[in-house]
Amino acid sequence: MNDAPEIDELVPPDRTLMGPGPSDVHPRVLRSMATPLVGYLDDYCVEVMNDVQDGLRYLFQTDNEHTFAVSGTGSAAMETAFGNLVEPGETVLVPDNGYFGARMGEIAERAGGEVVTVEAPWGEPLDPADVEAAFDEHSPTVFGFVHGETSTGVRQTSVSDLTGIAHENDAYVVADTVASLGGVEFHTDEWDVDAVYSGSQKCLSAPPGASPITFNERAVEKVRTREEPVRSWYLDFEGVWEYWGEERNYHHTGPISTLYALREALRLVSEEGLEGTWDRHERVAGALKEGVEAMGIGLNVADEHWLPTLNPVRVPDGVDDGEVIDRLIEDHGIEIVGGLGALDGEVFRVGCMGHSARPANVTQFMAAFGSVLA
Ligand code: PLP
Repeated sequence: MNDAPEIDELVPPDRTLMGPGPSDVHPRVLRSMATPLVGYLDDYCVEVMNDVQDGLRYLFQTDNEHTFAVSGTGSAAMETAFGNLVEPGETVLVPDNGYFGARMGEIAERAGGEVVTVEAPWGEPLDPADVEAAFDEHSPTVFGFVHGETSTGVRQTSVSDLTGIAHENDAYVVADTVASLGGVEFHTDEWDVDAVYSGSQKCLSAPPGASPITFNERAVEKVRTREEPVRSWYLDFEGVWEYWGEERNYHHTGPISTLYALREALRLVSEEGLEGTWDRHERVAGALKEGVEAMGIGLNVADEHWLPTLNPVRVPDGVDDGEVIDRLIEDHGIEIVGGLGALDGEVFRVGCMGHSARPANVTQFMAAFGSVLA
């Protein structure tokens, strides 16, 4: 028999999470996870799921019936969207201006799609004219875009223009809102987006593990008329909807504590009101933006595409970004991260999302950042 390992009591260090996620979890959400479990088909759990679905419809600003939480992180929701909507051989258009657009491409390819890209420099959004040109050249069936690109801190504006182009070409639109939903304005129905997914660990002040997703009727019709079964059993829309739809049948065990957490997070959004949370993110991140600008350090994004939830603060000349990041966490308990891909060494990525989007966090960050750079 193997020896039992000695495992110490769990005592996580005190952190202020100002990176690209997870962000600080609201104390009420943490408490909800310490409440007793019920069975995943218990009437109480069904009520919790109903509340989650109502809360998500409000969050997504949609009337879509097919709105639920994927058991898994944002990437599982991404895979649910592309894995169900893309059939082998179909052309899928994805952005080439950030890390998560590239992930969309990888996932679409594994679903059997032929992936083509629309280009924009890292640090800029897609230009609708380029999207139109890409449609003319490639005639894609599915088009994905990232509303808040966490790798660059860019907010994709002109969403209605993008969906308009796609629909004129009979294509389906998938939006990634993992770093934006609940933090900045998003209107699923008004902007006519066919499938939208997000995550719980950023703007919703909840832990990772139950990821919001919504499909409109047009998207559901495409999924239901597939010629080939979805390649993933776990993330197959029809199977998952057995559990989240009227049937409430077993598909897989619902992540009960994580659903409690998401429900409490959505209750917080309802109490504050969506406009209230958008406004708070803009005000609090605005103070951070003004603070770093006052230090003579700008953000690596134009004001009109600024994503308050993720601020790409430029690394000043002569400063070692890794050292600053290490000192912030070691001396001040504050987590931020560096740039990815084309922005590696160029920016610090400072998140301001969910329960981390509070004046106290920004004050603490500004003081620590100033002292580390001094
Ligand atoms: N999309 C975006 C924009 C993200 O920021 C992330 C995670 O940071 C993901 C997708 C993937 O989500 P997860 O890491 O929760 O799987």
